[in-house]
Amino acid sequence: MNIVIFGPPGAGKGTQSNYIALKYKLHQLSTGDLLRKEIKIQSQLGKKISSTIDSGNLVSDDVVSNLIEKFISDGSLKNRLIFDGYPRNLNQAKNLDSLLKKYDQKIDLALKLSVSLETIKKRILSRKIHEKRSDDVESIAIKRFETYEKNINSVIEFYKKSNLLRVVNGEGSIHEISTEISDIIEGNKG
Ligand code: AMP
Repeated sequence: MNIVIFGPPGAGKGTQSNYIALKYKLHQLSTGDLLRKEIKIQSQLGKKISSTIDSGNLVSDDVVSNLIEKFISDGSLKNRLIFDGYPRNLNQAKNLDSLLKKYDQKIDLALKLSVSLETIKKRILSRKIHEKRSDDVESIAIKRFETYEKNINSVIEFYKKSNLLRVVNGEGSIHEISTEISDIIEGNKG
């Protein structure tokens, strides 16, 4: 199956995607990680996008779409993708559907992690100590949260309409959240 997972910054998308990927032998496709990699290797693209990421805004839809097509077109990953942090807006959700269709695939499940701003602030500050992400300072984290809130409703509606949306309570422990996600996936497989 192909899964989409989204939620505000610090909601635990990366942690939970990693867990699902290992448990169900899927490939974790994190657009945030792909973009940070471009910055790290100082590619042309990396140089272009670093200020956007550090301002808490979204990188352009075309750039991200180009990055993910490589994985969607890879036959060895067919129907084994978990999209971590993609789509972030309605245009990306539509792009993803067309890209998947082009390679004879579809989304089977859309997971939304629901977390309050208070919890997010705490998690991001603690992550900053461990991962040293340049966009994990409080002011940018708040901006990223606002960017998320501004764009995500249309994505939620998009997946609700096709009956793929499942909301997960992201306030609990890592284990509680992953158990809830596993239950949803198991229920979905049948
Ligand atoms: P993340 O690691 O998912 O928190 O993403 C970190 C940053 O990368 C975001 O704040 C955006 O600037 C950028 N980014 C990640 N995924 C996307 C996406 N699907 N579309 C646009 N920008 C993205």
